[in-house]
Amino acid sequence: MFDQLSDKLEGVFSGLRQRGVLTEPMIREGLREIRRVLLEADVNFQVTRDFMKRVEEKALGERVLKAVSPGQQLVKIVHEELTSMLGERRSPLALAPIPPTVIMMVGLQGSGKTTTAGKIARKMKREMRQTRMVACDVYRPAAVEQLQTLGEQVGVPVYAEPGSQDVVGIARRALELAQSERDRVVIFDTAGRLQIDEQLMDELKRLKEVLKPAEILFVADGMIGQESVNVAKGFDDALDITGVVLTKMDGDARGGAALSIYGVTGKPIKFLGVGEKLDGLEEFHPERMAGRILQQGDVLSLVEKAQRSFDQEEAAKLERKVMGAGRFDLDDFLMALRQFQNLGPLENLLKMLPGVNSKMLKNVKVDPQRMKHIEAIITSMTKQERKRPEMLTGSRRVRISRGCGRPVSEINRLLEQFKEMQKFMKQMKGLQGMMPRGGGMP
Ligand code: GDP
Repeated sequence: MFDQLSDKLEGVFSGLRQRGVLTEPMIREGLREIRRVLLEADVNFQVTRDFMKRVEEKALGERVLKAVSPGQQLVKIVHEELTSMLGERRSPLALAPIPPTVIMMVGLQGSGKTTTAGKIARKMKREMRQTRMVACDVYRPAAVEQLQTLGEQVGVPVYAEPGSQDVVGIARRALELAQSERDRVVIFDTAGRLQIDEQLMDELKRLKEVLKPAEILFVADGMIGQESVNVAKGFDDALDITGVVLTKMDGDARGGAALSIYGVTGKPIKFLGVGEKLDGLEEFHPERMAGRILQQGDVLSLVEKAQRSFDQEEAAKLERKVMGAGRFDLDDFLMALRQFQNLGPLENLLKMLPGVNSKMLKNVKVDPQRMKHIEAIITSMTKQERKRPEMLTGSRRVRISRGCGRPVSEINRLLEQFKEMQKFMKQMKGLQGMMPRGGGMP
């Protein structure tokens, strides 16, 4: 996400940081470069101009010229202004005071509306809110089926009237059903077109009248560049949208256009779509995103991600083992590895740490096969051996090697790693009492 933009900005700043003192011409030159980088990343022209104006006002003041580390001051100013360009603060989903909360998904065809409906339904369900989805994209029969499949995957009922094209009628009946079933959240997937057209907008306006939604979320394909900004503006003019979801932000498109949507519409970005799968949804935090773009890391999001991804029960079991009386064995080792794997590719995690950029990660090769091999090795051991790895003599290792098809050297390496981890766990136990308990430390 924004790798190029991020790396180029870092290039400008590292140049400036190397100088002890900054003169006005140096700062002006730096600002010109920042402007060029933003435009190259496809950030909207007007948005860039406003942004640069504000940065310039602050940067040419006393604060920077007389600062002890002027380069660092400049980063701070850009961080503040990027945050405000992205919406200032997090804007969570609005829930209606009287349920059900109605969410209307709108956007062009292929933007990711249906997928995002499924992702939000999953999130709502996980937050213990009784949720329903409604298929109002009646012109594309596959869309109804797609929504039904998603509903099955997340365990959320889907209301549809296959064959009917009476969108407003469907919406009305779905809403009545949701009220009588006491649903908390109802998500309406609506039709999209390839471009904005009047007929579609009329239909959406009628739907809005009937549904009185708490949220009209405009779903924008983050990859399509400047056009997405115009489309957002068109939908906002017609429907007065309440928020934006940027999808496909897992790709490495320039992405700057997407960053301009708030600047142009004034409507907050609420979520990012970061994958085709249902767990590919991130809350959008302007300040954290600014931090990520400026390579200051996003440790908060990382911690939240970990909390969501770790199986709480298993994590608690592991914590008891680490902190309590139990002995850390190879089964626990495997469990810990599996939990970390739930977090997704290691490269993506590392990028959330301060000071880590994509250039540094070029040399980090994470072999996805490695986890499979470790699983194969450990599952080829007997229960006894997993509990007491010290009984793994040479002949046993040869047997395991035959069982799992991996060379003995790999088994030796794994056992070395395991020993290291066991040592580490012992040290952790030594620290017990100095650390807060029950913090869910996996
Ligand atoms: P709709 O026509 O607006 O309902 O769009 P769909 O939900 O059918 O999505 C269109 C395509 O985009 C599908 O292939 C989705 O899998 C894909 N897609 C949606 N969201 C994301 C995302 O966040 N990341 C990626 N990589 N693909 C996505």
